[in-house]
Amino acid sequence: MDSECWEFNGTIATGGYGIISFNGRSYGTHVVSAHLFKGFDLDTAAILGLEICHICDNRRCWNPEHLFVGTKRDNFDDMLNKRKAKKSAIEIILLAMELNKGESNGT
Ligand SMILES: [Zn+2]
Repeated sequence: MDSECWEFNGTIATGGYGIISFNGRSYGTHVVSAHLFKGFDLDTAAILGLEICHICDNRRCWNPEHLFVGTKRDNFDDMLNKRKAKKSAIEIILLAMELNKGESNGT
């Protein structure tokens, strides 16, 4: 990762992501960035449950070089790998439960 983060200075949502209005809807800045710079299809992504993940872990960042497309599971695994060293086992289990809850709500 050679480039710096592009920090968004506008509205920040509860989760820490920058939010902008695009085509009459609200999206994360990183999602719109992936759409504009990488051709990430917003409608297809919603159907497939794809998310834009940050290599840099900076949720305000919208530098397309720092973004990759993944499933919710990929995003979770990525976060888990990065945080495993810092988190206790019980915290990881709670995160896993949180993820499963979100998936069952979606079906
Ligand atoms: Zn970044």
